[in-house]
Amino acid sequence: MAIATTNPATGRTLKSYDPMSDEQIDAAIERTHLAFQQLRGTTIAQRGRWLTAAADLLDADRDATARLITTEMGKTYAAARAEVTKCANACRFYAAHAERMLADEPADAEAVAAERAFVRYQPLGPVLAVMPWNFPLWQVTRFAAPALMAGNTGLLKHASNVPQTALYLEDLFRRAGFPEGAFTTLLVGSDAVERVLTDPRVRAATLTGSEGAGRSIAQIAGRELKKTVLELGGSDPFVVMPSADLDRAAEVATTARCQNNGQSCIAAKRFIVHTDVFDAFAERFVAHMSALRVGDPMDEKTDVGPLASERGRDEVHAQVRDAVEHGATVLCGGQQSDGDGWFYPPTVVTDLTPRMRMWSEEVFGPVAGLYRVSSYDEAVEVANGTAFGLGANAWTGDPAEQERFATDLEAGNVFVNGMTTSYPELPFGGVKNSGYGRELSAVGMREFCNTKTVWVGQGAAPAGTGAHAE
Ligand code: NAP
Repeated sequence: MAIATTNPATGRTLKSYDPMSDEQIDAAIERTHLAFQQLRGTTIAQRGRWLTAAADLLDADRDATARLITTEMGKTYAAARAEVTKCANACRFYAAHAERMLADEPADAEAVAAERAFVRYQPLGPVLAVMPWNFPLWQVTRFAAPALMAGNTGLLKHASNVPQTALYLEDLFRRAGFPEGAFTTLLVGSDAVERVLTDPRVRAATLTGSEGAGRSIAQIAGRELKKTVLELGGSDPFVVMPSADLDRAAEVATTARCQNNGQSCIAAKRFIVHTDVFDAFAERFVAHMSALRVGDPMDEKTDVGPLASERGRDEVHAQVRDAVEHGATVLCGGQQSDGDGWFYPPTVVTDLTPRMRMWSEEVFGPVAGLYRVSSYDEAVEVANGTAFGLGANAWTGDPAEQERFATDLEAGNVFVNGMTTSYPELPFGGVKNSGYGRELSAVGMREFCNTKTVWVGQGAAPAGTGAHAE
């Protein structure tokens, strides 16, 4: 894949980059390795000052960075601005809380026959981050902020279609004061990932992206015995039960499916509705989806911009066509537009069966699958009937059902009467083919730490023994 900025709203390529040579990659790894020797010796308070400076820079640069993001991957300018602010907030969160998250944890010394015993969290070293384009600033920041605070350094291999955002991130952390090389962008294609990950100076890897890319990285890392965190795809269920607030559920369902032009791993993708309220929900949902304005992502009236690539747009349309050919019904949308840019209309498809690709595959665009179920058990069965397990939403006013969904849904997170989102305060990640490990919160920060057990026995020689005994 070419390393280039191509505006998805026009299809025009604005800037291209040559991939780094092997020598340049080597030099970048060495800089990151040397920066680690320096960063690990700094205090958490110092790193916190640098991360706070990064937050201030993000705020100051917000409008220009948002324009860049919109130009590179097509999300609306309003969404891009919100993403920049979210990154600044996450930097401030880790700057404020890292000291507590990384503090030594005392253990029960008596139980382990020690004078003192505790757990200490220490950095692992340079971490390779392979990242996607859909939240080009946020996906990187949610790795970089905790990793740098813990004293690790970062090597970013960003998606090939967001090179300018990738370069901005390297510049951001340098301007904030982190040592030269502490956060380095590698302008390389995915074919260079194996070379970087097998380098002994690189100690671990994190990937956010597709299942295929995750399997590839996990294989290499397994062979090399290197720690990985994988945040992969999802086909999140959004269950609506008879006691739900239908107006609110239909409104949130629309945002949950179409935010980020429908290209979010935690977007709700399968809407599983109890038969008692199916028609009422479908009517509201289709009305909201049809009312969304598709168009120029820089226009503040636009709700849904273009998809990030022509290939991605064609793939979404192929999934819809496949469903229709196998007997599904399109309730709105479903037509690929002519003209410049990779736009796709908000679409609702129902009468889905397991023969259709949409039943089992992730749809990475503003296309909702609508499923009818007749009981709680069937809702859970359909919701869990996927290889993915990232997020899950359940809408019900019944407290007993809320409890049951929280336990029964197979997912890394369950949001009841709300849509899935991420907060620095809460762990984020998936189960099944959605990956493993967690980002965010203290749990995410510790993924790239050596959780070191320290046991200290009696140091002083007992009275009457040893060299200095009288
Ligand atoms: P992708 O093709 O897997 O790309 C993601 C990153 O992996 C890019 O940097 C890409 O580089 C690289 N890559 C691709 N194939 C690779 C391989 N075989 N070995 C090493 N690196 C490889 O994913 P995408 O289609 O751009 O992004 C959408 C996917 O990401 C969806 O499945 C979505 O659900 C998932 N996602 C998950 C999360 C989460 O938190 N769980 C968040 C966002 C997105 P190139 O660009 O150079 O190909």
